[in-house]
Amino acid sequence: MDLGIEGKKALVCASSKGLGRGSALALAAEGVDLIVNARGAEALEATADEARALGVKVTAVAADITSEEGRAKVLEACGEVDILVNNAGGPPPGFWPDWEREDFIKALDANMLTPIALIKALVPGMQKRGWGRVVNITSASVRSPIAQLGLSNSARAGLTGYVAGTSRQVAGSGVVMNNLLPGSHDTDRIKALTESTRQKQGLTWEEAVAQRNAANPTGRIGTAEEFGAVCAFLCSQWVGFMVGQNVLLDGGSFNSTT
Ligand code: NAP
Repeated sequence: MDLGIEGKKALVCASSKGLGRGSALALAAEGVDLIVNARGAEALEATADEARALGVKVTAVAADITSEEGRAKVLEACGEVDILVNNAGGPPPGFWPDWEREDFIKALDANMLTPIALIKALVPGMQKRGWGRVVNITSASVRSPIAQLGLSNSARAGLTGYVAGTSRQVAGSGVVMNNLLPGSHDTDRIKALTESTRQKQGLTWEEAVAQRNAANPTGRIGTAEEFGAVCAFLCSQWVGFMVGQNVLLDGGSFNSTT
């Protein structure tokens, strides 16, 4: 299927590794020019080079997307874009009585207020040009809370509420906004969470991986490549009538009839 986005320009935040990288490379494969971003320059340059090898123009901006200065640097480098993929590292795991106001502020800043700031900065230009796509990478925890990720559950819920209303307000101007909800995918983030479970339960690494995989109906976890392909589809010409949806990509892990 031709996604119909060749020649468009996308900002993919937090994209040197994992799901952001998968999304950036999938868009590059469709002929989309990129602005890629992460804090660490080395992995970012490696991802930028991989995308360039697919024949598109790539600007790499090393910056913390959750800080005001970082966002200013990224926005200055990218100018106007047609596609915005919002992403950032997830908040740390923990236990509910231990989280203080400061922990919530950090999580809200990174996973709710940062995507909102980027939407506010870039969507008006998309509206003027009559075409735009926004995909917010959130989490399966939006549908089904993960107790140890309470900071994430809270921040993602806030963003989801904002997108639910805003996506409908901008849909009439050709801007389509949706959320993509990853369940377990094979990235550094999930390795760290598996390691934390391994230590808590006194398992070997192999046992922890087998237990994690067995919990999914597919008997495995997803790949960043699969995730990126779905993200690219959500940025495509074909989602014009798909507005404000929360697309769960979790191998059927969330058990529900609808
Ligand atoms: P990952 O493998 O740890 O990759 C995170 C990427 O984001 C890296 O490129 C990292 O590079 C960059 N990054 C992190 N913080 C950043 C910041 N402040 N500014 C700019 N770039 C930043 O993570 P992932 O698994 O792809 O997860 C991506 C998002 O999906 C996270 O919010 C995570 O909570 C969520 N999620 C993931 C899963 C999963 O199974 N993987 C499931 C549910 C939700 P630098 O460190 O160099 O900045």
